[in-house]
Amino acid sequence: MQDTIVFMQRELRLAQQTVLFDKDATVALYRETITVPGADSCKCISCKNFAAQRGRVFPEAFIQFLSGLGVDPLKEWEAFDYDFDSRNAKRSVLCGGWFLFVGQIVEGIERKRERPDDGFSYWFTTSFPAGTLPPDLKLCAVEFLGQIPWVL
Ligand SMILES: [Zn+2]
Repeated sequence: MQDTIVFMQRELRLAQQTVLFDKDATVALYRETITVPGADSCKCISCKNFAAQRGRVFPEAFIQFLSGLGVDPLKEWEAFDYDFDSRNAKRSVLCGGWFLFVGQIVEGIERKRERPDDGFSYWFTTSFPAGTLPPDLKLCAVEFLGQIPWVL
């Protein structure tokens, strides 16, 4: 019998959005392509603050959600923050970022980025900085936004 490539496309729904995703290909993406968390390759203070507490700031449900897609929750593609005022007296910061996976949005519109009411939110998006990524990969992102402690 010949080897056949089987695309394990599965469907996942989140609020008003539905994606098709390929978990095995996403696991391979994190093994071969996204091997360093984005915030580690940036020198800005926001990224340092995020990196200092990586793995401890996300709700457990979000980590489960990412794992279900095949995403490594410790390897964000990029992180950023929204607070541009002085951080001297800051206790927390509104922080966002993207995790990439192999897949596509098949239903539902792009969500507008808005401040979460309950501290943390996430959704699917096709708009993220694509930078150095191999163009042959069909990638989609989970964007997150939430308040995280300022620990620096
Ligand atoms: Zn940065």
